[in-house]
Amino acid sequence: MVASVGEYIESVIDAARSRDPGQLEFHQAVQEVAESLAPVLERRPEYREWRILERMVEPERVVIFRVPWVDDQGIVQVNRGYRVQMNSAIGPYKGGLRFAPTVNLGVMKFLAFEQVFKNALTMLPMGGGKGGADFDPRGRSDAEVMRFCQSFMTELFRHIGPDTDVPAGDIGVGAREIGYLFGQYKRIADEFTGVLTGKGLGWGGSLIRPEATGYGTAYFLSEVVATDDETLEGKTIAISGYGNVGTYFIEKANDLGAKVVTIGDEDGFVYDPDGIGGDKLEFLKPLWTKQRRPAKDFADEFGLKWVEGQRPWTVPCDIAVPTATQNELDEEHAKMLVANGCKYVVEAANMPCTPGAVATFAEAGVRFGPGKAVNAGGVATSGLEMSQNSLRLSWTREEVDVRLRGIMKAIHRTCLAAAEEFGVPGDYVAGANIAGFVKVADAMLDQGVV
Ligand code: GLU
Repeated sequence: MVASVGEYIESVIDAARSRDPGQLEFHQAVQEVAESLAPVLERRPEYREWRILERMVEPERVVIFRVPWVDDQGIVQVNRGYRVQMNSAIGPYKGGLRFAPTVNLGVMKFLAFEQVFKNALTMLPMGGGKGGADFDPRGRSDAEVMRFCQSFMTELFRHIGPDTDVPAGDIGVGAREIGYLFGQYKRIADEFTGVLTGKGLGWGGSLIRPEATGYGTAYFLSEVVATDDETLEGKTIAISGYGNVGTYFIEKANDLGAKVVTIGDEDGFVYDPDGIGGDKLEFLKPLWTKQRRPAKDFADEFGLKWVEGQRPWTVPCDIAVPTATQNELDEEHAKMLVANGCKYVVEAANMPCTPGAVATFAEAGVRFGPGKAVNAGGVATSGLEMSQNSLRLSWTREEVDVRLRGIMKAIHRTCLAAAEEFGVPGDYVAGANIAGFVKVADAMLDQGVV
């Protein structure tokens, strides 16, 4: 091989760019992973020889389909549905479904690509996939959401199965949507199986699954601060979202003695310097997940400060935890956080920090945890739900929580060990990418050119 590893990596990134020019988020995710793989590609030439990286950036299969449905006014609506089956080297495709107007093929591919590494890091046997639709659940009635989900599953059902591909929730897909999707799958396939995770507790769901991404983020964060002999006790935290991830993160962060002072949405943010807890947290929990109401309603209810048109990254805090969506925290935000004394940033959402923000944190010595490690508790608990479904039994809350905590500690350890082994000590981004990559790459080598 003539090209240097650096040139080789650039050529893989360039090829992904020129093959699918419009898929910006996908290019961003590929670049972030590929650039951190240099030390491992240097040491293991067989990965280049067998074109492992080239194969990993190409989905095994992509399904794109029409989702026609009738709204409450009797008008026919047409959405576009997706399932990207990215990599099945270590298990069935696994990953959520996102219903949001911002969904397109590039977003689906970036999420599926990230999921491959995230799922590998959990050490559970799950490949990576992602799906969804450009459907906006906001302002839609229950009946409309049900008809949409039924139409979506009427096509998706033929591509999934408990040993093939197991979808779950993501933005815009929660307990209600999983219920409607599961009902339609069961009806068409005539099978009661663990084909989806995030199911209701009475019909195959796992305890702690709703809490898992938020709790897992808090567990990972406490491991990060512990490396500085610190705890979360007395720390001030800024977060952005107030969905499933944000609200359960607040709950666990409060348990661990921290104070969460912000939540927000695309219109602005709420600032509560006393910290969100007690009645305020109970009000907040269903605000998005069940009621799909705006963040400002929270400020109005409790007479809290509402900051219109801004992100929460302007407030003084020790820790920032973006919990909403991709690229919600940019370089300018990062500079503000650094200037305001922020020491730790962990991504509870998928790729919420832009590359400029990540570079700013690195320069300033802010400890930074990437989403694929930090938020892996959600899919890990989905993996535990799959195990319980296969065993046809359910574990107690304590049992699942202990396993989740153990998995988050192990992911943290794995990231640091891989970073150390490959000469970038303390770099969670490189550690997560390298550890996830090696696990999947070795399975791909074992299985031949497929
Ligand atoms: N959507 C979540 C994620 O980004 C969870 C996926 C799952 O449980 O399969 O990891």
